[in-house]
Amino acid sequence: MVVVKSLLERARAAMPGGVSSPVRAFGSVAGDPPFLARGAGAEVWDTEGRRYVDLVGSWGPLILGHAHPAVVEAVTRTARDGLTFGATCEAEVELAERVLAGYPFADKVRFVSSGTEAVMSAVRLARGATGRDVVVKFEGCYHGHSDGLLVKGGSGLATQGLPASAGVPEAYTRLTEVLPLDDEEAARKLFAEQGDRIALVLIEPIPANAGLLLQRRAFLELLRELTTEHGALLLFDEVISGFRVAPGGATELFGIRPDLVTLGKIVGGGLPVGAYLAPAALMDQVAPLGPVYQAGTLSGNPLAMAAGLATLRELERPGVYAALEERGARLEAGWSRALARSAVDGTVRRVGSILWLALQAGTPPRSWHAIDARAAEVYRDLHGRVLAAGTWMAPSAYEVAFLSTAHTAEHVDRAVSALETALAALSVGEGTGPAQ
Ligand code: PMP
Repeated sequence: MVVVKSLLERARAAMPGGVSSPVRAFGSVAGDPPFLARGAGAEVWDTEGRRYVDLVGSWGPLILGHAHPAVVEAVTRTARDGLTFGATCEAEVELAERVLAGYPFADKVRFVSSGTEAVMSAVRLARGATGRDVVVKFEGCYHGHSDGLLVKGGSGLATQGLPASAGVPEAYTRLTEVLPLDDEEAARKLFAEQGDRIALVLIEPIPANAGLLLQRRAFLELLRELTTEHGALLLFDEVISGFRVAPGGATELFGIRPDLVTLGKIVGGGLPVGAYLAPAALMDQVAPLGPVYQAGTLSGNPLAMAAGLATLRELERPGVYAALEERGARLEAGWSRALARSAVDGTVRRVGSILWLALQAGTPPRSWHAIDARAAEVYRDLHGRVLAAGTWMAPSAYEVAFLSTAHTAEHVDRAVSALETALAALSVGEGTGPAQ
């Protein structure tokens, strides 16, 4: 008898966990991961033909939704003329100018191929420029998977139940200090003790990798003051928030001037792009002008630059961010109503088109240790039901939801009723098996 293996079996046989990035494996929710076959606008379809309202948006890049005509057109037109040359291209210059227009504090930008690479390279630059080694990060913030930054790093590790990754030499982690978010005292103390050893403080100004831990402005201002006072640099990691919450990201929203910004996701329009940017005095220390080495075979390739450029051009249309805000507010209101009518404790956290279900009672968390560990269990029970009700949500309690310009009021309302259905099923105590 011929045994036909399923795609999932083949995936698991050929790739660790059947995936190329861990959270996709559905390790902390019920059921097996469906394979997605197609996306159009605000919706995705799996290989079984089931349709979902997509609230993942490929984890952030797809602010215009799936297969936006302007992006598809730019990519296909560019592809016909060659995918990569390893030489600077026109779209790259134009994308650089547009990125810098969003971030007036910066004069120059270097493109790389992922958010991880952007932060890793910016950390090297900060160390090279200051001649210091210690880097300070915050518990629950994720800055990619480079050695030394994989300590208490939010969703991916938390979903696996890991504090840090194996394989990172202890010597590296000793150069990374980890502070709690939302804690002025801890930050002051660390700077008082070792301020002259600190090269860089890096933070997601809108932390969105351990749920959405919205920070008080005063806390970010203090980080600016402490770093300035002690000759350290401040990096805003805007891989998620850049061009998502405003053209100038959280830097624009807060009006606080960092020394370095890292970008990813939206600047690549769905293709692999990361970027780091800063004033010329800092960026000119990067090779070939300066001694800090960093390079990349596919960096700035025409295809990825074309996708990013087409995306940023669309975002320049009047009213785009107001529309995202309006749809975000509609989803927040709908989800909040659904939670209030259910037996599940929770509130909705939101900034613009980024939303998170904080499934716990009381004040919504602003730091990692304020997140109720039981929330992940509630989410596990909800997730499969939300999926079965036709809404694609991230398979982790610590991941946020993203809306796009393609989400209409009707899509948002479908996402609201999916949560209502799931909450109602939970309240009557239906079994928690896989929902498919
Ligand atoms: N920084 C932040 C704030 C991120 O959210 C991410 C990815 N989610 C990264 C860095 C790493 O980006 P990438 O996955 O493209 O390497």
